[in-house]
Amino acid sequence: MSETTLTGNRGLQQEEPLLFEQGHPGHSGVDLPEPEPVAERLGGVKRQRDIGLPGLSEPQVVRHYTRLSHMNYAIDSGFYPLGSCTMKYNPRLNEKMARLPGFADIHPFQPESTVQGALELVDLTARWLKTLTGFDGVAMSPAAGAHGELCGLMCIRAALEARGDARKTVLVPESAHGTNPASAHFCGYKVRSIPANARGRVDLEALKGALDDSVAALMLTNPNTCGLFEDEILEIAQAAHDAGALFYCDGANFNAIMGRVRPADLGIDCMHLNLHKTFSTPHGGGGPGSGPVVMTQELANHAPLPWVTEGADGFRLLEHAGDTGSDGAPLGRIKGFHGQVGVFVRALAYMMSLGRDGLEQAAEDAVLNANYLLEGLKDDLSPSYEGPCMHEVLFDDRFLKDTGLTTLDIAKGLLDEGFHPMTMYFPLVVHGAMLTEPTETETRETLDQFMETVKGLADRARAGETAALSEAPRLTPRRRLDETSAARNPVLRWTPPEDQA
Ligand SMILES: *Cc1c(COP(=O)(O)O)cnc(C)c1O
Repeated sequence: MSETTLTGNRGLQQEEPLLFEQGHPGHSGVDLPEPEPVAERLGGVKRQRDIGLPGLSEPQVVRHYTRLSHMNYAIDSGFYPLGSCTMKYNPRLNEKMARLPGFADIHPFQPESTVQGALELVDLTARWLKTLTGFDGVAMSPAAGAHGELCGLMCIRAALEARGDARKTVLVPESAHGTNPASAHFCGYKVRSIPANARGRVDLEALKGALDDSVAALMLTNPNTCGLFEDEILEIAQAAHDAGALFYCDGANFNAIMGRVRPADLGIDCMHLNLHKTFSTPHGGGGPGSGPVVMTQELANHAPLPWVTEGADGFRLLEHAGDTGSDGAPLGRIKGFHGQVGVFVRALAYMMSLGRDGLEQAAEDAVLNANYLLEGLKDDLSPSYEGPCMHEVLFDDRFLKDTGLTTLDIAKGLLDEGFHPMTMYFPLVVHGAMLTEPTETETRETLDQFMETVKGLADRARAGETAALSEAPRLTPRRRLDETSAARNPVLRWTPPEDQA
């Protein structure tokens, strides 16, 4: 793209320098009286040189962040088929509820009697989650999916130790999200990988071969990260239990099955839910998340504090092991206060506004949309597994064979066309993965337009028109980044020009 302008701006999209580059010493957003000299008061200690803070007016600062926000891409600006992330539309009703002063303006140190509504909300959210999943207990405080994994494994370890049968290994299928082996390792377990079979599911025979009396738990994702339902899950659970192991399920993909199946009925002992994915909270870019862990009674005896209970005189927080009156030994806190209450508000608003039947329909529509993409693209891309799929569809890069192009080029080409790409190169079990999750909130027109675009890019690749793709993105504020240099030589600090060597 060689269309240049005098300013470097493109239309009303303005090039945005750093605040440090825009600022001038002495400029200020407010007029303050000249301060009294402080050198004497500080006993002669005086700043030797200017510390280089940018001087800016208030409108300059507002415009800076507003312009940056225009360069951001979000589910509110367009289709966002990032597999494994469930980037669904976040209903505005949830935001309205989360901003109610009774939720937004309270403080965790307030006396319980003044936050009864918030405690009731935590309790009611917990009840919905237990009902939807069929479990006896739920730990509400984990702050995200990965934190939920750690919490669940800690409960598993405590329960096995209480059985007098501490074990050392956790089995993780090779298609698992990277957080699974990381959480198990962090919890002090040895991690053993279980291969997938040709159908993209756990290889049951390999699993049985690996199950022995050293195995504390199996960590399985269902639906798995290939977008497939583990249809041998009952046998898998039986095998794990027969070997004395517990069965952890990564429930980040609950969006595909909520209201359709209760995970407790599948023989699972413990599972985290990603409220920010399945139950709609704006996420990505660092938070906030929430990863409650539903679990059997045996594990719930060891769940972390605090717990909300309802008594004769209202809702109470049980914050100390002695308060709980249970037989187990609860873990201490794993998170400050009660977890991410703002996300609970959104999740409960979502669940109550959709209702049980609406949640089931959301799951069905998510699966329908993913299968619509699978059917529509199966002749142009290379689906890794035979359908039907669940809420996301996995393609690999066989369709790019001999074109000289890669999954990365297709993803970057999508950016030029106004689409956020699918998840690339994950899961690792297929080559050049493109994990595509449309979610239930997209229209058929959007899905059609996306498919036409992907087909167009695939056609160009096969026709040898590779120049544009191999240079993509060409129309974004920044061109293709040198990711190797960015990883090897990260520049994390702005250096004033006069200090640059
Ligand atoms: C998102 C995800 C996680 C991790 O959840 P975070 O909230 O990002 O910590 C774990 N497993 C799967 C399958 C996921 O999709």
